[in-house]
Amino acid sequence: MFLALYTSCVIICIGLLICLILFQIIKKTPQVILCTECRQCMAVCPLLSRGCNPMEIMLGAKINMLDKTMKNGGYLCVNCKKCRQACPRGLAPFEEAQMWKLRSSWYKQSIKGKKIKAA
Ligand code: SF4
Ligand code: SF4
Repeated sequence: MFLALYTSCVIICIGLLICLILFQIIKKTPQVILCTECRQCMAVCPLLSRGCNPMEIMLGAKINMLDKTMKNGGYLCVNCKKCRQACPRGLAPFEEAQMWKLRSSWYKQSIKGKKIKAA
């Protein structure tokens, strides 16, 4: 009896853990999870001094703070792909930036109002 109860609890816990991991993978792109925050992409981004930080784009996407990161300068990303060339894992922060631009009403409104230039 005790053994059956113990086994059930272990199975439920493992099931919950698997669900949690799958949820994280579905919610974020896998590359976000693979980013080690090594900062090598930062060294090559031509717009770093203006607030576009590829490592922070990845970190923002990982911790659900992408909106803030993008509004702070990430929207300036020009899709030059230099960050991917520098990344030891071949990750592409600009893909997260592009996906955000497609979703963001703030970005679309800003372009319409010409507050910012479309990059
Ligand atoms: S170089 Fe790659 S792994 Fe390193 S912080 Fe940038 S995206 Fe992440
Ligand atoms: S693609 Fe965007 S984030 Fe990557 S280096 Fe170029 S401007 Fe920076």
